[in-house]
Amino acid sequence: MSDDAEDAWYADGLRFECTRCGHCCTGEPGRVRVSIEEVRALAAGLELAEYEFLDMYTHRLSSGGFVLRERENNDCVFWSTEDGCTVYANRPRQCRTWPFWRGVVASRRHWDAAARGCPGIDSGALFDAATIRETSESDGTSGTIPDVESP
Ligand code: SF4
Ligand code: SF4
Repeated sequence: MSDDAEDAWYADGLRFECTRCGHCCTGEPGRVRVSIEEVRALAAGLELAEYEFLDMYTHRLSSGGFVLRERENNDCVFWSTEDGCTVYANRPRQCRTWPFWRGVVASRRHWDAAARGCPGIDSGALFDAATIRETSESDGTSGTIPDVESP
């Protein structure tokens, strides 16, 4: 374990197990970033050319890069009520690394705030601090640490 992870507030590890409730794929507007490598994999999985995939399923950010489109109700374009994530095998890194995002593991307060919308947080498998640190350092997000209200 690195010195940083040993010193982190989550030095004893954190628990997480997805219940597949779908809250993080639906409801509130969000930004699921996709790298060009992820675009290639997603396009191949859907048997589309990359430009077709970009045109059909993404928006370009003014700051650069691409995010997945959402439907009018803010659901991710790949969410299905019946089947869950319809691109699960190729889902973007941002979806794979939740909840160990820099902006979530920044503090106990940020973690607890995220837990209010994600029933998988603080249950299930224990992840060690080194894994959490390594995941958060390459989480696929912008790395922004949000303001959160005190409990
Ligand atoms: S909100 Fe949490 S438990 Fe629900 S689908 Fe998303 S990651 Fe899984
Ligand atoms: S790509 Fe899949 S896991 Fe990621 S937000 Fe969309 S439906 Fe959810």
